[in-house]
Amino acid sequence: MAAKEKFAEPTYLECGFGELEYKVIKSDVCCRCGTCEAFCPRIEHKENKPALVNYDPLCGLCFTYCPRTFLDMGAMESRLFGRTRNEDEALGIYRKAVSAQAKARTGMAQDGGAATALLVAALESGMIDCAIITDRDEEWRTVARVATTADEIRAAAGTKYTISNSVFAVKDALEKGYKKIGFVGTPCQIQGLRKVLLLDEPYQFGQDKIALLVGLFCMENFDYDALMTGLVKGKFGLEPKDVARFEIKKGMFRVIDKTGKAHEVKIAETDRFTFPGCGPCFDFTSELADISVGSVGSGDGWSTVLTRTDAGEKLYAEALAKGSVQEKAVSDKGLALAKRLAADKVKRFETKCAEMSVSGITR
Ligand SMILES: Cc1cc2nc3c(=O)[nH]c(=O)nc-3n(C[C@H](O)[C@H](O)[C@H](O)COP(=O)(O)OP(=O)(O)OC[C@H]3O[C@@H](n4cnc5c(N)ncnc54)[C@H](O)[C@@H]3O)c2cc1C
Ligand code: SF4
Ligand code: SF4
Repeated sequence: MAAKEKFAEPTYLECGFGELEYKVIKSDVCCRCGTCEAFCPRIEHKENKPALVNYDPLCGLCFTYCPRTFLDMGAMESRLFGRTRNEDEALGIYRKAVSAQAKARTGMAQDGGAATALLVAALESGMIDCAIITDRDEEWRTVARVATTADEIRAAAGTKYTISNSVFAVKDALEKGYKKIGFVGTPCQIQGLRKVLLLDEPYQFGQDKIALLVGLFCMENFDYDALMTGLVKGKFGLEPKDVARFEIKKGMFRVIDKTGKAHEVKIAETDRFTFPGCGPCFDFTSELADISVGSVGSGDGWSTVLTRTDAGEKLYAEALAKGSVQEKAVSDKGLALAKRLAADKVKRFETKCAEMSVSGITR
């Protein structure tokens, strides 16, 4: 019998890397979050995917905390928030929704620069002693790293629309001895880390050192080679190094080159560059983060911020009091749009789960 039928929600001993490979990696359900690579010394990132380099028959923690083996959102919400969501909570459980903007917003910020400003505020207040950020190289390949200064956090501002195993960088932070690690990333990355944080298994592998999860909104992400070859070079005749910025606005995927010229296609035309593992993904707003930040819902140059937990609420209140961010009300229309997109993502998730025979993920 196939592993996925045998063990819907196993303990760490029941399924190991073999089952992870069968159920998630080889079946294109893997979102390349990097969680399995971060917390296991036997798993490495090889040929752009997780690979076992040293077999251990007695361990299956990777299967247990991978967000794509099984994920029971009701159980996760109950543990994190003390309740499950109501039907009208399409953006997940949150306390406050607001439009926010960094006071010292740089040109590199994707939207209001709130994600960067919040991480800097967390570092300066001592809530975190480092932040895992996702920077990029000249060719727009993602580079996740441990930032320990405000300047390093600011240097990583801006969205890289390519899949990134950013959670892997948590391993580096743990090895360097950081004890209050902050993380910013996509909903799938946040799911992996939150699963690790809420794990019942009697092992300590550094999860107590993770102090803050700043989640981003995310409708979809792209495969690096497909996007750069198919769109950037193929359609626009640009080299990745000539790109100054990627953005998604008003239904268009836009590439701004270094001369300032905008090249754009309808977002529907980018479907073929989407990373396959983004299909079975229901989470638009990083519902398991301490605080979530996105673009939808707020005007140009502003970020939509949802505070969710005590840590997220405290961080936002401190950043506001200190003047790191300024805020204004988020409009009902903006929130309604975000809810509509969240519902669209859930519909896509249901279709893709059926097409890809994905089981074990319930919202
Ligand atoms: C792949 C992707 C898809 C997104 N899709 C949507 C969407 O559909 N709708 C929406 O409203 N918002 C979306 N967002 C969020 C949006 O693009 C902004 O990140 C968000 O509004 C925060 O803006 P900011 O100016 O506050 O962030 P900034 O201050 O510019 O900081 C952005 C932070 O994002 C991190 N980051 C950048 N790229 C990645 C990556 N690939 N993986 C992990 N972390 C990364 C950086 O470390 C940086 O700290 C998406 C983000 C990503 C990464
Ligand atoms: S989804 Fe994340 S944790 Fe699961 S196999 Fe892929 S990289 Fe590893
Ligand atoms: S769509 Fe889902 S799987 Fe893809 S990057 Fe966004 S959160 Fe991750």
